Amino acid sequence: MAPRATAAPTLHKVIMVGSGGVGKSALTLQFMYDEFVEDYEPTKADSYRKKVVLDGEEVQIDILDTAGQEDYAAIRDNYFRSGEGFLCVFSITEPESFDATQEFREQILRVKNDENIPFLLVGNKSDLQEKRRVPLDACTERAAAWRVPYVETSAKTRDNVDKIFVELIRNISKRKRGGDEEEEPITGKKYHCAKPPCCRVL
Ligand code: GDP
Ligand code: MG
Repeated sequence: MAPRATAAPTLHKVIMVGSGGVGKSALTLQFMYDEFVEDYEPTKADSYRKKVVLDGEEVQIDILDTAGQEDYAAIRDNYFRSGEGFLCVFSITEPESFDATQEFREQILRVKNDENIPFLLVGNKSDLQEKRRVPLDACTERAAAWRVPYVETSAKTRDNVDKIFVELIRNISKRKRGGDEEEEPITGKKYHCAKPPCCRVL
């Protein structure tokens, strides 16, 4: 009997963008390792890789957690060019970080030159409702104007953390296949992490 061919899982490249301190690293580490890391080195950019089963298919997600080096235009453009999908994060407690999403969006569109690039607007720190300073209406309006999903997350409580990564990689995967499939609701049921293996790329 001929051995069964095992194709390498498809790799989907995700980039975390957003101002410093909004929780990009905390979201990434919560997704990767199921823990809330409160004091990750703020200037450290790193990339991570994890296998996940998405709608019955094993895929690899490659996450680049940026950390301010993207202030240098050349570095930023290289990062953005390599991305197939973007999680654009702000903190619902910090209006300046919400304002900054506008510029991240523009920079990404300029580099990718593709209005339909898979992209989610993510309002993090949803556990801090009493400190909320960015009204929900403003968030949903901006997302509607960009025609992207808006999701609120908490890296602390893990609320919606899987959802943002799964929704984004589902969009990336759909685009790679030609983008002509029906939208499916995110249930969380079809998704689980293949643990182990789950490897960190240094
Ligand atoms: P980054 O600079 O965007 O990578 O932000 P970090 O992930 O380093 O987070 C900055 C700070 O915000 C840290 O003190 C985190 O503990 C805190 N933080 C991140 N996400 C959350 C969250 O969802 N809720 C709360 N309460 N704090 C958070
Ligand atoms: Mg960070």
